[in-house]
Amino acid sequence: MLIRRPGLRLVVLEREDELAAHQTGHNSGVVHAGIYYAPGSQKARLCAEGKRLLEAYCAERDIPIGYPGKLVVALREDEVPRLEAIEARARANGVPGLEVVGPDRIRALEPHGAGIRALWSPSTGIVDFRRVTNALADDIRAAGGEIRTAAAVQRIDARGSVITLGVGSDEVSARSVIACAGLWSDRVAAMTGDTGSERIVPFRGSYYELVPERRALVRRLLYPVPDPRFPFLGVHLTPRPDGRVWVGPNAVLALARAGYRRRDVDLREVAAIVRHGGFRRLVGRHWQTGLAEQWRDLSRRAFAEAARRFIPELRDRDLVPGPSGVRAQALDPDGSLVEDFRLGGAGRVLHVRNAPSPAATSSLAIARELADRAEGQLFAGFSAGPAGGRGMGHS
Ligand SMILES: Cc1cc2nc3c(=O)[nH]c(=O)nc-3n(C[C@H](O)[C@H](O)[C@H](O)COP(=O)(O)OP(=O)(O)OC[C@H]3O[C@@H](n4cnc5c(N)ncnc54)[C@H](O)[C@@H]3O)c2cc1C
Repeated sequence: MLIRRPGLRLVVLEREDELAAHQTGHNSGVVHAGIYYAPGSQKARLCAEGKRLLEAYCAERDIPIGYPGKLVVALREDEVPRLEAIEARARANGVPGLEVVGPDRIRALEPHGAGIRALWSPSTGIVDFRRVTNALADDIRAAGGEIRTAAAVQRIDARGSVITLGVGSDEVSARSVIACAGLWSDRVAAMTGDTGSERIVPFRGSYYELVPERRALVRRLLYPVPDPRFPFLGVHLTPRPDGRVWVGPNAVLALARAGYRRRDVDLREVAAIVRHGGFRRLVGRHWQTGLAEQWRDLSRRAFAEAARRFIPELRDRDLVPGPSGVRAQALDPDGSLVEDFRLGGAGRVLHVRNAPSPAATSSLAIARELADRAEGQLFAGFSAGPAGGRGMGHS
């Protein structure tokens, strides 16, 4: 917006002391190629567009993107039809360079890897999304925007012609608000009376790391064939831009919105989740999967076993505990996980209501989409030029 409308006043309000303190700074760092997403969905479109924009941005800002490529690996015959369905999706999404490969080629690409068939995506990359965020923040400042950290928005009054946001005892006025509050997005939406139907359920994902002397076991991103009911489940192996190799994440219910550790418990949050009809329906349907994930969370051996299916030489002692992240996953009242991105809100206040993976890859395309909508609303009937109002968003 600042580039399109020089002179626009824009402030980013971030509740934490630093940027990328939540999902963006706690993810796998994968630049997704757009393999899994339903053709025509927002995810499919914005992932492809976002990847192009991200690659161009990183080239401009000298942020390295590595291209280890990705193998989605079928280990058993019964996984092959699902792999074929994913290949068809990926081709419909226009993912470049795809190849279906057999055991010999799997071994050539990943000398220690197992698998009977795999989908090879050479254009899948890895990047440090914290670095990307900080570069974007520098650009905002350089263009005259302001970034305020330790600035949690506690209330929003959008009834008058000017929107007022309460940040502690301060007030910020704006003509347009874009709220991208991740784990708190339903709460921020509720501040504008926009309760919506979905609720954010936080899912903690913990990683293990390979000990340095075993990192050479993994050269590519290795992913299981996803279960269409739980597209984000399944331990994968990820070489990182800094040379480390992460194994994971799993997915268990986090007991607080920022529940990065098992001991982070917010009893009110837990009670609210358990009361939510959608959550109870989800558990009723999928409690076995939930228990398996929970067990993997407690047992390094179970985690190693999941990873060993892809790298048979991997031993339990090759894994040491790594970081964790918390996913903001929107859940509908009928108990279904909201799969696609959900960007909503009315008029002058836009809410990002569901932006799970691959939203880091897609971020610049999502930003463009939101900027288009906000601009359309703010400047309807005006030609481009400096604006007197104040835009605000949290990143
Ligand atoms: C474990 C894990 C692995 C992932 N792996 C990948 C991957 O490899 N590739 C990929 O593309 N995507 C991945 N994702 C998804 C991706 O990280 C997220 O979709 C993306 O970062 C979402 O960005 P966001 O800005 O919506 O949310 P966030 O990064 O969570 O940012 C929301 C911000 O809003 C702030 N905020 C909240 N409430 C308020 C308030 N009231 N006032 C002010 N500020 C507020 C928060 O402090 C936070 O900084 C992964 C996610 C997780 C958790």
